[in-house]
Amino acid sequence: MITIEQIIETVNEYNPDANTKMVREAYEFAAMAHAGMKRQSGEEYIQHSLATSLNLAKLRLDTPSIVAGLLHDVPEDTSYTLEDIKKKFGREVAKLVEGITKLGTLKYRGLERYAENLRKMFLAMAEDIRVILIKFADRINNLETLEYLRPDKRKRIALETLEIYAPIALRLGMGEMKGNLEDLAFPYVYPKEYAWVKKEAENKLKIEKKFIDKIKKVVQKELQEEGIEHVSIHGRIKHLYSLYRKLLTKDRDINRIYDLIALRVVVKDVPECYKVLGLIHKKWKPLKGRIKDYIAQPKPNGYQSLHTTVFAKKGKIVEFQIRDKKMHELAEFGIAAHWQYKDSDIKKITREKAEWVHALKDIQKRFQDDLKYLSEIKVEIFQNRIFVFTPQGDVIDLPENSTPVDFAYHIHTDVGNKCSGALINEEMSSLDTSLKSGDVVEIIINKNRKKPNPDWLDFVKTNIARDKIKYYLNKEKEGIIIKLLKKK
Ligand code: MN
Repeated sequence: MITIEQIIETVNEYNPDANTKMVREAYEFAAMAHAGMKRQSGEEYIQHSLATSLNLAKLRLDTPSIVAGLLHDVPEDTSYTLEDIKKKFGREVAKLVEGITKLGTLKYRGLERYAENLRKMFLAMAEDIRVILIKFADRINNLETLEYLRPDKRKRIALETLEIYAPIALRLGMGEMKGNLEDLAFPYVYPKEYAWVKKEAENKLKIEKKFIDKIKKVVQKELQEEGIEHVSIHGRIKHLYSLYRKLLTKDRDINRIYDLIALRVVVKDVPECYKVLGLIHKKWKPLKGRIKDYIAQPKPNGYQSLHTTVFAKKGKIVEFQIRDKKMHELAEFGIAAHWQYKDSDIKKITREKAEWVHALKDIQKRFQDDLKYLSEIKVEIFQNRIFVFTPQGDVIDLPENSTPVDFAYHIHTDVGNKCSGALINEEMSSLDTSLKSGDVVEIIINKNRKKPNPDWLDFVKTNIARDKIKYYLNKEKEGIIIKLLKKK
């Protein structure tokens, strides 16, 4: 059971100036709105709202996000509206909740070719990245309680997590989030493989752990002798799903995985990182081609660290990841770090915090470039393209002002030729209606219809529809001419 006190406590730890009064009010409002509702697990519904909000507090997000986490299912599932939320909690919170509700309509049903569209659309529709972070927090709790759902629903949600959510988390630099999402979804998507990997990893870890502990002690001693102050040295165990993916490329041989446990050395600044790398290489011989300087050349998502793999004692292979504190936080939190400490005005900006702000600006800039790229996609694709849904939730992209006839031909030639009407968002609509992004379109088919209507040529927007219609009309013309010739 999670309590609101727990959330407030967590928030206060990183943000003593947080508006906890609003957090408490949001809790009371959500509890009242969801009163009497139960989750499939039998828990009170509010437990899900609290869990979502606590996940956001663990990401150290600002108060509007914490509040929106508590309220995120209110408009969708209760009699209270977005307008009520806006009146009580203001425009910013309402905007976030609205974003989450909107994203709720995006569903992935296992068609590979739509996955990238869906990811892009997810990012584009969210507008505010915090909406995605709330969606992640929501999804984590849904996965934790997935066992209570119907098997088909379980599988859909888990697969969607692997195909859509985790890749987005990775793009946003949120390593921990990606790993957690994947590991929670893994057993539902590939139950047998999960059981196999888990067992392999457990057996291997039993042996490895002792060895890594010894190596850790050696490194600690070396650092001490050199006078290098370290923040922490810890063994990080590879996430199971990412281990599984790697095993698939290594003939399923766990002995070929060198980073099942990697030793993470966190130090205070960049020069120290290189010092530690030198120290390790002096002690143990590095494996060729495995030294990676992600400090000088960060990964596209902003990740920074030095990686090296060495032959340690008795020729055993160990991977090291060396980074400073800031890099460590960014590697764990990714884009979420951008909102940390941003709440209200921080009065005392210590020197370290100033550095923090600097680092945030850095990542912000990187992501702005990323977002610029996204808005370019928006300009290129989204401005001239629209995304509509089939009733099954698949995403179809079409040029702007496309009509149900374009949509029908996009699905299948036969659907186009035989279409006689359309339901747009469950409402009967004419075939020349301009579709809008987010519309759910269902084509009504008349099985007796033999050919397309020539009038459709006046309003279709896609070449595919135009060509197909013309093709049938030409064929028809040919038929008439042949008939006429035969008559002669
Ligand atoms: Mn939810």
